[in-house]
Amino acid sequence: MHYIEPHAHMVSRTTNDYQAMAMAGCAAICEPAFWAGFDRSSVDGFRDYYRQLTEYEPARAAKFGIPHFTWLCINPKEAEDAGFGREVLSIIPEFLNAPTVLGIGEIGLNKNTKNELAIFEEHVALALQHDLPILIHTPHLEDKLKGTRLIVDSLKNAAVNPAKVIIDHVEEHTAGLVLDAGFWAGMTLYPESKCTPARAIDILECFGNENIWMNSACDWGISDPLAVAKTILEMRKRQFTPDLVQKVVFENPKKFLSQSPNFRI
Ligand SMILES: [Zn+2]
Repeated sequence: MHYIEPHAHMVSRTTNDYQAMAMAGCAAICEPAFWAGFDRSSVDGFRDYYRQLTEYEPARAAKFGIPHFTWLCINPKEAEDAGFGREVLSIIPEFLNAPTVLGIGEIGLNKNTKNELAIFEEHVALALQHDLPILIHTPHLEDKLKGTRLIVDSLKNAAVNPAKVIIDHVEEHTAGLVLDAGFWAGMTLYPESKCTPARAIDILECFGNENIWMNSACDWGISDPLAVAKTILEMRKRQFTPDLVQKVVFENPKKFLSQSPNFRI
């Protein structure tokens, strides 16, 4: 079965991972900009990273027949220095015309600080100015509920069209908050933290199958680039029909991503 991997940090993965994803039926990969595992020391560090995301990584994915798209931003972890955050923000427009850029992301909050929120709001303004969709990271564990509330309030204040925003890493206690406000929700399938495949399917059963997607977010940490493919098997075990599985893993992400003029599949 074909699926879309809507959130994967492929710069941290091997070519074997690309090969396995291609064999599992991955029809497109979308890679949001994120933390590199260390804080970058200069604006040029980000310029090089954006080149990697818009030039090299699509070429690497193409070797396995998978279209590769990207989202650009400075992640909340490195945005705590607001002056530096603004310098990085100022170079993002240089890359917005690249043919595989989908929008602004993954922006959001990490420790729910004032500076993170300020830079988050400036990213939202940039997305509105260019009429681009937005992909949002929500904080971990005890910070998640508070951070999700802050993000939802901030987006409502900015009068953002919620249909063009996906709030990712939702869990049982935040999915309703996001979906009820009209935003899209993303579930991240991790072997240890965030959602396991079984929990993600429980969330689908509780909150329905509209405006929701699943991703592996595979990165430097313990994560699995085949998490979406493995969850397809789990959904079949739980008696989801093939049409319903296809809706969640392919049609839903296609519908959201197609709001970006650069998304083609
Ligand atoms: Zn991510």
